[in-house]
Amino acid sequence: MQQRGAATLRAMSTDWHVHCLDCNDTQTFDDANHREELMALLCRHAAVISALVPLIQDIGSRGCVALSLGSYGEVDPEWFAKHLGHRLVPINEYDEVLTRCPLRLERHDFAPCVRNYGHDGDCVVATH
Ligand SMILES: [Zn+2]
Ligand SMILES: [Zn+2]
Repeated sequence: MQQRGAATLRAMSTDWHVHCLDCNDTQTFDDANHREELMALLCRHAAVISALVPLIQDIGSRGCVALSLGSYGEVDPEWFAKHLGHRLVPINEYDEVLTRCPLRLERHDFAPCVRNYGHDGDCVVATH
């Protein structure tokens, strides 16, 4: 796994997916260019997504209940259920996993969080 600077990544087309570090398994999305923040939110809410599985199973057809990410495709709740409790990370099309927290804080004019990916507790922005 190689490291690339944030500025370089922003300039290139970079599609993001969700990856399980424990199983080396990836749920792919379509053209989720620079959407690492969205992928991080899916990882963060894996338990909520997984909780849809019993509902989907009771309805009996996955076509009836879908969690759509718009043009990026559908989230597969069964994938998240299978990897619940594992280390889920956003991964890009160059097989680079995210190391910095990608979340931006609305209450701080969308300033980026400065902590590492997957940190506990609240996001922190740089103070001047
Ligand atoms: Zn897994
Ligand atoms: Zn954060």
